[in-house]
Amino acid sequence: MRIAKNDIVEVIAGNDRGKRGKVLKVFPETNLLLVEGVNFIHRHTRPRKQGAQGGIIEKEAPMNASNVMLVCTKCNRGVRVRTKVLTDKSKSRVCTKCGEMIERK
Ligand SMILES: [Zn+2]
Repeated sequence: MRIAKNDIVEVIAGNDRGKRGKVLKVFPETNLLLVEGVNFIHRHTRPRKQGAQGGIIEKEAPMNASNVMLVCTKCNRGVRVRTKVLTDKSKSRVCTKCGEMIERK
């Protein structure tokens, strides 16, 4: 997966199309991402303890990594990236539009 934790991504499909958020968690085995502020689900809860509040909790749900694109800060939009191998053999992600390196944070 080319997307890592703390990346800023833009949603390109589904109800949250166009939204941006920070990647909170990646699930490489299932190709899923948890993105801040995106793909909310409503969870109905019952008050378990006396005095506790029941109701509807909004919570982010993991979404498929293929529904988001990395945001290039230079282009200010979701872009495709390619992997570039640097002289020190480390790999870097590069925006295919402008060539800007997108650092992992
Ligand atoms: Zn770019």
